[in-house]
Amino acid sequence: MQLPPIVQTGHAILRERAAEVTVQQIETPQFQQLVDTMIAVMRQAPGVGLAAPQIGVSMRVIVLEDTEQASAHLAPQERHEREREPFRLRVFVNPVLRPQGKESRLFLEGCLSIAGYAAVVERHRQVEVSGLDRYGKPQTWLTHGWPARILQHEVDHLDGVLYVDRMLTRSFAKV
Ligand code: ZN
Repeated sequence: MQLPPIVQTGHAILRERAAEVTVQQIETPQFQQLVDTMIAVMRQAPGVGLAAPQIGVSMRVIVLEDTEQASAHLAPQERHEREREPFRLRVFVNPVLRPQGKESRLFLEGCLSIAGYAAVVERHRQVEVSGLDRYGKPQTWLTHGWPARILQHEVDHLDGVLYVDRMLTRSFAKV
């Protein structure tokens, strides 16, 4: 499969509010193809999340997945601090995020659309997300730590927001 490139910052699509996906759209082979492409692009990057605008499609779809290998570079202590636990592949269509509780966390974060850089970003520690799965079935996920961070980052993409809008500017660095 020929994979599309990941759109880099500066492209207008990353600053648009992506469109809601309709039930009719979900039922099309083109939509299922889009989801498969997003999963393949995320895994190839490799990354732990991807939003449709990052491959040039302005629709409210995100994919996320974290594996043991993806965090293998972190010391057990770092993994523990980040509350970074592997989780299975998830696809959310029209996700709606609700922060839970008042706790937040500060950690370095990167983005496949701002290749080569990272910065410290404050995120809610715990969130609940609802939306549809790739077949249009409603689903809800309550999570905390690293997956909660990924969700906040990806849902931001659907609203045209990048982590550089939220970062501690003096922490911005080349990686
Ligand atoms: Zn990103």
